[in-house]
Amino acid sequence: MLKLDNHPSGRHFLHIPGPSPVPSRILRAISYQTIDHRGPEFGVFGLNLLTQIKRLFKTQNPVIIYPSSGTGAWEAALVNTLNTGDLVLMYESGHFASLWNRLALRMGLRTEIIGQPGIEGWRYGVDAQKIEERLKADTQHEIKAVCVVHNETSTGVTSDMLAVRKAIDAAKHPALLMVDTISGLCSADYQNDTWGIDVTISGSQKGLMMPPGLGFNVISKKAIEASHQSKMPKAYWAWDEILEANKTGYFPTTPATNLLYGLSEAIDMIMGEGLDQVFLRHQKLGAACRTAVEAWGLEVLCKDPAVYSPVVTSVLLPEGVDANALRKLILERYNLSLGTGLGRLQGRVFRIGHLGDCNELSLMAAISGCEMGLQAFGIKLKASGVIAAQELLQ
Ligand SMILES: *Cc1c(COP(=O)(O)O)cnc(C)c1O
Repeated sequence: MLKLDNHPSGRHFLHIPGPSPVPSRILRAISYQTIDHRGPEFGVFGLNLLTQIKRLFKTQNPVIIYPSSGTGAWEAALVNTLNTGDLVLMYESGHFASLWNRLALRMGLRTEIIGQPGIEGWRYGVDAQKIEERLKADTQHEIKAVCVVHNETSTGVTSDMLAVRKAIDAAKHPALLMVDTISGLCSADYQNDTWGIDVTISGSQKGLMMPPGLGFNVISKKAIEASHQSKMPKAYWAWDEILEANKTGYFPTTPATNLLYGLSEAIDMIMGEGLDQVFLRHQKLGAACRTAVEAWGLEVLCKDPAVYSPVVTSVLLPEGVDANALRKLILERYNLSLGTGLGRLQGRVFRIGHLGDCNELSLMAAISGCEMGLQAFGIKLKASGVIAAQELLQ
């Protein structure tokens, strides 16, 4: 067992932007007895789950479920559709976009990056205009896929994916559109089919309120056609055998049965609340969190209000303040876990996650912990973020 020495009293406040605290309903579902994944009950359960999960993505397309982290689902998207040496256009909106780029390079793809340098370059959403210009210049159609991140968890920016679709269409370019909505799913509206996404990549441990361990690919007809031309070596990640087994509700290899129980429960909870209600709740929490940051006199990293993430707020600290030392103090004193600065943002920001099963008082606790920590760390605050956020929530 995990050893937690000197377990402090009260609960741990897990406010990293995923995973977030798992609701007890989901934990209980995961603890049901494991069943035979080739037996009759499983097929019924699997078929229902594979149908229900489509509602989260607003899709009629097949959803592939892998026992993997989100990174595995990134790899699956590329290895199923492309060929070694293919050129992929990557929009570097933040650290996760740059990790996806690195993964593509390791797989033997060529990539071209659109992005802006420095911290400043990570403070805005995806500029679809730039994608359109690049695709228009690619008259030979050398670019085979465009990869973008919907909700950049490293920065707290939620980009407009429909604008990217329109950019590709305006350029009359045949490239596949691949979207990472690993932390965007169930956090902000996502319309897979209306937006014409070819491969959507997601995972279990962010907006879905689940533990880590499941990765998803939602695949369009065009993506499936591309997979028939793809010669990159693959076996475990190959869509064809999974699609075949999924027809009857089964999987070609042993699925993560108990996580699938949890997933089914998570879908029931989210649909019970209603997707629109889930999005509204997060928008409200996001607004309250940003209000607190502004009251403190600190900067929200995202500079464009049109693309504020509803589920993660990155707080930019004044130059010379070590964000990781601050996070350490807050964890030790208040048992509150905050997200670290990634990549270019290392040491410069801390991130407050308010995704998944978060409500007003859980957010208020996190804001309060941050406020006490900032003061204890010797940062002069302009005003109380706690009071400002409370006023907004009232
Ligand atoms: C968490 C996350 C990932 C990485 O997923 P893993 O489950 O850690 O492999 C990729 N992209 C985004 C946007 C994420 O939030």
